[in-house]
Amino acid sequence: MLKAFKYRLYPTKEQQEYFSKCFGCVRFLYNQMLANRIELYEAYKHDKELLKANKPRTYTSFKKDFPFLKEVDNLALANAQLNLNKAYKKYFKEGSGFPKFKSKKRSRKSYTTNNQGGNIRIEGNAIKLPKIGFVKVRQHRLFDGLIKSCTISQTPTGKYYVSVLVEMEDVEWIPAKNKIGIDLGLTDFAVTTNDDGISEKHPNPRHLRKAEKQLKKAQRALSRKKIGSRNREKARLALAKKHEKVANQRKDFLHKLTDRITSENQVIVIETLKTSNLLKNRKLSKSIADAGWHEFIRQLEYKSAWRGRTVIKADQWYASTQLCSHCGSNGGKKPLDVRTWICAECGTVHDRDINASRNLLKLAN
Ligand SMILES: [Zn+2]
Repeated sequence: MLKAFKYRLYPTKEQQEYFSKCFGCVRFLYNQMLANRIELYEAYKHDKELLKANKPRTYTSFKKDFPFLKEVDNLALANAQLNLNKAYKKYFKEGSGFPKFKSKKRSRKSYTTNNQGGNIRIEGNAIKLPKIGFVKVRQHRLFDGLIKSCTISQTPTGKYYVSVLVEMEDVEWIPAKNKIGIDLGLTDFAVTTNDDGISEKHPNPRHLRKAEKQLKKAQRALSRKKIGSRNREKARLALAKKHEKVANQRKDFLHKLTDRITSENQVIVIETLKTSNLLKNRKLSKSIADAGWHEFIRQLEYKSAWRGRTVIKADQWYASTQLCSHCGSNGGKKPLDVRTWICAECGTVHDRDINASRNLLKLAN
């Protein structure tokens, strides 16, 4: 099983320069290779045989044209080629958009390198990386396993991180003991019911909502500044800092919640998100994006894999909000503002979200 660990890096001035050279070279190479592929396609698109015969250039051939590429990690360049291949595969097989050129301003600053014969390792409070040697790292969680690869990145506010991908032993599957159903909502972030019959509401943290208001303010401030002005650059940095803060706070909230759920329960039932439908409703879309449901489910799934838990995703047509969890009769669709309802069959008074989580819990059996 592969597991990723992310740590803050504290590079020296020279190391920072090296990293920014790597980010730049990887972006440059990616764009060169993409341009080459487009060129080939344009030249031979009318003749399939010729198109097949004229293979795109490899990253090694670009190193001959652009000697400065030799100054950075060769594996980082190889990974740029792999990333482009992946982007093409996604375009052809999964219907994603056509690969885009990476812009200097907007694209993520990162590069990936691989562990080959111990060229990446952690010693004390430093990580050894190919071509550059030891870089100071803050390692808060230790791991026991083989390092496969590392991705070094820089945030828009200038912080450096390394994400270390580690091969770890598989966890033994743990039989069901405690079960939980989780309903995701807008009023509360999540409402849960476990098989002891205990329901809990997990509201969106208030500080997060406050921070999001500040974010909107910073966004407006930026849009008022003149393009290319120094004040705009200042406002851009201020906005990036707020974004980073909100993203970190949200992740922190989600990590605490998913840590608790996956440590207390062996079987976890969640709904399947139908975001494509929901996003059509523009009012809802902002809240959904902010609510971080996808991140929540992502964390639940990988932490469950680590801990040998089972995650069950309810069928997307399962009417968890419509069914009465007491007698099973279908009370029909309810607008979002209906928070409580009474079952016409058995007379049970339901809290909308608790009832939904009870229905989801039923799928654990
Ligand atoms: Zn009922």
